[in-house]
Amino acid sequence: MPDLVLGIALVGGRLAIDFANLPSRPASGPSNSLSWEELIGFLRATRIVSPERAEELLVLTETDPRAAFDLLNRAKRLRDALRATFDALARKQRIPRESVEPINEVLRVTEGHDELVEASRTWRIEYIAREGGLDWLLAAVARSAAELVTEGEETRLRLCANPACSLFFYDNSRTHRRRWCSMSLCGNRHKVAAFARRHGARKRGN
Ligand SMILES: [Zn+2]
Repeated sequence: MPDLVLGIALVGGRLAIDFANLPSRPASGPSNSLSWEELIGFLRATRIVSPERAEELLVLTETDPRAAFDLLNRAKRLRDALRATFDALARKQRIPRESVEPINEVLRVTEGHDELVEASRTWRIEYIAREGGLDWLLAAVARSAAELVTEGEETRLRLCANPACSLFFYDNSRTHRRRWCSMSLCGNRHKVAAFARRHGARKRGN
């Protein structure tokens, strides 16, 4: 499978698009489920958290189930909002205000400031969130989504042309004519089907 990082297909080209596609299964269409393992796998695959932090988070369902439950719910709410937002954006329709609200909710927790922090004789600037907590883990996704929304009709956010797939992707191609979330999956399936149709039609014609 292409662009597969730790079992997660990152075909979107933008952080928020990959998040909207979660759990990414090209060619099989969007799923409404989202497990704790899939969420943490995504955070790790996209390097929002380190492998060590991912290990800590994975056991949170046992050490602090309430916190894990809250974050997973927040993540699903954001994921569903991104799907509604991106669907309207890709189709050049008006984006409903209520679809954007969950993005704003996450952006609100990213308030903070820079601070100098000493680390073995050297100093570095560290961003200190006003509120700690796990919601912070979704901040980069919300920021990425907000940037996409502001692109408006000029955006190259697209829906995969395979109607059974409908994953989102960002068309970074030079010609701006990319049609498939993944050429090796949806694109090739389409080619094979088209070939079979042509081949079949010719046979019948003879
Ligand atoms: Zn696809």
